[in-house]
Amino acid sequence: MLKHPRKYDAIVIGGGHAGCEAARALALRGHPTLLITMNIETIGHMSCNPAIGGVAKGHLAKEIDALGGIMGKIADASAIHYKRLNMSKGPAVRSSRAQCDMRAYRTNMQWSLMNTDNLDIKQGSVEDLHVLRENGEWKIGGVVSNLDVLYEADAVVITTGTFLRGLCHVGLDNFEAGRAGDKAAYGLSETLAHLNLEMGRLKTGTCPRLDARTIDWDSLEKQPGDESPR
Ligand SMILES: Cc1cc2nc3c(=O)[nH]c(=O)nc-3n(C[C@H](O)[C@H](O)[C@H](O)COP(=O)(O)OP(=O)(O)OC[C@H]3O[C@@H](n4cnc5c(N)ncnc54)[C@H](O)[C@@H]3O)c2cc1C
Repeated sequence: MLKHPRKYDAIVIGGGHAGCEAARALALRGHPTLLITMNIETIGHMSCNPAIGGVAKGHLAKEIDALGGIMGKIADASAIHYKRLNMSKGPAVRSSRAQCDMRAYRTNMQWSLMNTDNLDIKQGSVEDLHVLRENGEWKIGGVVSNLDVLYEADAVVITTGTFLRGLCHVGLDNFEAGRAGDKAAYGLSETLAHLNLEMGRLKTGTCPRLDARTIDWDSLEKQPGDESPR
């Protein structure tokens, strides 16, 4: 096994929404941080739809913004349509939502992270956690990649989204995948299971993608964006 020459304060596994925020937050606080993710080109990829905010998730986007996070800024830099939802209803159910150009979102996020001090980015799949026994206590020591490279760190943040033992269902068929077009992650799931950490399965669902050429647009009501986006 090769050992990477640099030891980090923290390693973040995964470059999705959560991993981007975690890696940047650690680096901005002065911690040498490594973000390691399966594919550098998909850092900041919007897995499902290209919306940031909306009812249910809008409060999270705003809390991240209030804490100095980057999601809101990247959404503003990439948005093509803003709407305050439910304005005819009570304040409790109103919400801001930005529809983004998902490729621009990804590119802007990658540019921003690649220009963050204290942050290194590597492409690789984490297959194992490096766990040490020190003074009778178990302690995290780093991660091991698919290329058998050990990256050492004092803390590891796991933000692997839908990838651990991921299973996609389409109609009555199913296949192993992190998300459509991406491989699922198995080694890390096995490590977590060996460490006696409880594993569960969550389900996400997505609506079918429609072919714009098959839609009778004249029969539909236009939903313009807000004239003065907030
Ligand atoms: C088809 C589909 C539809 C969805 N619909 C919705 C929805 O409607 N609403 C909703 O809230 N959520 C939905 N989701 C879930 C969506 O994935 C999450 O909301 C969001 O992307 C989670 O962000 P995340 O940062 O936690 O993980 P992700 O965005 O999934 O990012 C995980 C990252 O970790 C990396 N990674 C994983 N394993 C490893 C490893 N072993 N080593 C290195 N890197 C690794 C991946 O490459 C990826 O970059 C959907 C997901 C899919 C696939």
